[in-house]
Amino acid sequence: MTAAPWEFFDLNVLRTARITPTFVRVTLGGPSLARFASGGRDQRFKLFLPRPGAREISVPRGEGAENWWPAWQRMDPDERAVMRTYTVRERRRDPGELDIDFALHGDTGPASRWAATAHPGDPVTVLGPVEEDNPGVDFRPPADATAILLAADATALPAVAGILAWLPPGTPAKVWIEVPHAADRQELPTKAGAEITWLCLDEMDGRPAAPLADAVRATAPPGDTDTVYAWLAGEAGTVKTLRRHLVDARGIDRRRIAFCGYWRRGTTEDDLIQQAIAAEAAA
Ligand SMILES: Cc1cc2nc3c(=O)[nH]c(=O)nc-3n(C[C@H](O)[C@H](O)[C@H](O)COP(=O)(O)OP(=O)(O)OC[C@H]3O[C@@H](n4cnc5c(N)ncnc54)[C@H](O)[C@@H]3O)c2cc1C
Repeated sequence: MTAAPWEFFDLNVLRTARITPTFVRVTLGGPSLARFASGGRDQRFKLFLPRPGAREISVPRGEGAENWWPAWQRMDPDERAVMRTYTVRERRRDPGELDIDFALHGDTGPASRWAATAHPGDPVTVLGPVEEDNPGVDFRPPADATAILLAADATALPAVAGILAWLPPGTPAKVWIEVPHAADRQELPTKAGAEITWLCLDEMDGRPAAPLADAVRATAPPGDTDTVYAWLAGEAGTVKTLRRHLVDARGIDRRRIAFCGYWRRGTTEDDLIQQAIAAEAAA
C-alpha cells in the first residue's frame, strides 16, 4: 500500500435526490474532480462544509495537503470549516461526478442538516486521494480469506455497497445491514455469493436495544473461523460489541477483523476528533 498524496478539491453540488426515506444522494462535480481517485470499497474522504451562515470554506490549503492535519489543528475552531468523514458511493468519469449518500439523522448535526437542504451550486471542499491505492480504504481481506462477514448500520451502507461491488465473483459473504425503514433497502449489485439480511427498525416489534449485534450473535459466521474476514462499521458502541463477540465467542483472530466506529451516540465528530487528539497527546 502506498501513502498516496491527498489533495483539496473545490467542488459544487450538481444535484441532490432523496433516494429513500433516510438517504439523500448528493452529487458533486467540478473541473478539479478529474484528479480525484477512488480505490472503491469503503473509500473514505474528508468533507468540508461552510460554517453556518458563512459561504467561505476555510481549510489549511497554503501548507500543502500532506501537512493538512497539524495545520488544521492550529486553525481557530470558530473559523475553520465544518469537517466530517464520508464514503465515496460512486465516482464516475465523463462526466466527472462524485456521489455521497448521507444518512439523515435530523438537524442536530451540521452535515446531516447541510445534506437535507443542499442545492445545485452550493460549494464544498473535499480532501481526497489522487491515487486508487491509498490508505483511505480499510477493507483489505488477506489473500487466504475464504468468506466475508459484513455488519453495518445506515452510515456504512454506502461502504457496504462499494465492498459488494468490488468482491470477486462467487465470494461467500454474509451481510447484515441495519436501516431505520424497510423502504431504505436498496439494490446492491454484486457478483459475490452474498446473503444479505436487512434489519429494518420500523418492521421490528418494540424498540430492540441492539438489533445489529443481536442478529450477528444469533448466526454462525460464514466459512471457517480461521479464514473468514470480517468488516464492521457503524455506531461505535455497537461496533465494539460486535468485535468483542467475534473474537471472544467465535474465536476469530482480531487481525482478521477490520472495524471502524463511524459515529458515536451523543457525540459529534468534532468531539471524537478532540478525544483522539487528547489520547494521542497523552500517549
Ligand atoms: C470512515 C467513515 C465513513 C463514513 N461514511 C458515511 C457515509 O457515507 N454516509 C453517512 O451518512 N455517514 C457516514 N459516516 C458517518 C458520519 O461521518 C457521521 O454520522 C457524522 O457524525 C455526521 O455528521 P453530522 O454533522 O451530521 O453530526 P455530528 O455533528 O457529528 O453529530 C451530532 C449528533 O448526531 C449524532 N449522530 C451522528 N450521526 C448519526 C446517525 N447516523 N444517526 C443518529 N445520530 C447520529 C451524534 O451522536 C451527535 O449526537 C462515516 C464515518 C466515517 C468515520
